[in-house]
Amino acid sequence: MPRKRRYKFNPETLAYELHKIPAKVRLSRNFLLFLLTVALSLGYYAIYSEYFKLESPKMISLMRKSEDLANKLELMNKRFEEINHSLVALEMRDNYVYRPVFGMEEIPSEVRAAGFGGVDRYSYLKSFDRSGILSRTAENMDILYKKAFLQSKSFDEVNTLAKNADELALCVPAIPPVDITSPKIRFSSSFGYRPDPFNGVYRMHNGIDISGKQGDPVYVTGNGKVVEIGYDFFGYGNFIIVDHGFGYKTRYAHLKNALISMGRMVVRGEQIGLMGNTGRSRGPHLHYEVIYRNRPVNPLNYYNRDIGAEEFRALVSPRG
Ligand SMILES: [Zn+2]
Repeated sequence: MPRKRRYKFNPETLAYELHKIPAKVRLSRNFLLFLLTVALSLGYYAIYSEYFKLESPKMISLMRKSEDLANKLELMNKRFEEINHSLVALEMRDNYVYRPVFGMEEIPSEVRAAGFGGVDRYSYLKSFDRSGILSRTAENMDILYKKAFLQSKSFDEVNTLAKNADELALCVPAIPPVDITSPKIRFSSSFGYRPDPFNGVYRMHNGIDISGKQGDPVYVTGNGKVVEIGYDFFGYGNFIIVDHGFGYKTRYAHLKNALISMGRMVVRGEQIGLMGNTGRSRGPHLHYEVIYRNRPVNPLNYYNRDIGAEEFRALVSPRG
């Protein structure tokens, strides 16, 4: 397209002359126009968003969605907190009930909190703000996962011991070694310091004495293995030692004789000997010891003294 020519009247020459606008002037005019456009646009945007506080419809929809998600996350975190409460209750029971029952040490809170810097760390759940809610949700999930994992490992340990506890319950010396429900049997001497029946010297009695008559049945008081059958003229006379495992042994002394052989496995209530008067003894009686971790303990703490006749007969199996 040919450029439009402009003519201007020159009063000096009295003629029309071609009018030329210098390039410099044209450039600066265009630049001013550009500046004006930018200023207008900025002004329009500023008034629209700042003065009227308006957002574009797309922005509004996005903000609504984000608010919705934040609400859901907040709900999730509340659920996490509830789960955490249950977990803490489990941890307490584990530490103060389950583990001690089987003689296990409690798991220190530092260990339970390992990897996330402390148990109290979880309390921030109670006062969270919206910023960073997603990363905190992920973190909470991580904490719960680790805690639950540790707890389940602890329960596995307890479970293993609980399985053995069945066996422990069968092996612990837990019944009277003779029929204490019989009227002819009587308790004649207790555990602990007492004057010696022979010379009156005050000394330790490592077991209990139960008097009866020659040949009364003597029963093993827990499952175990016969580890010693001996004779001690100046002391126990004929005696048997049974090892029950779990640190427990029992001794049956002054027997007329043993009815089992060395190394035999025996079952609670099985008759293993006959009451006698051998060794250092004045009249037929059984001297019975419970030894726990190589130390004599009071056998009376291990069986029910008020056991009924029928109950006792159900527990033992006499010979013949
Ligand atoms: Zn004794």
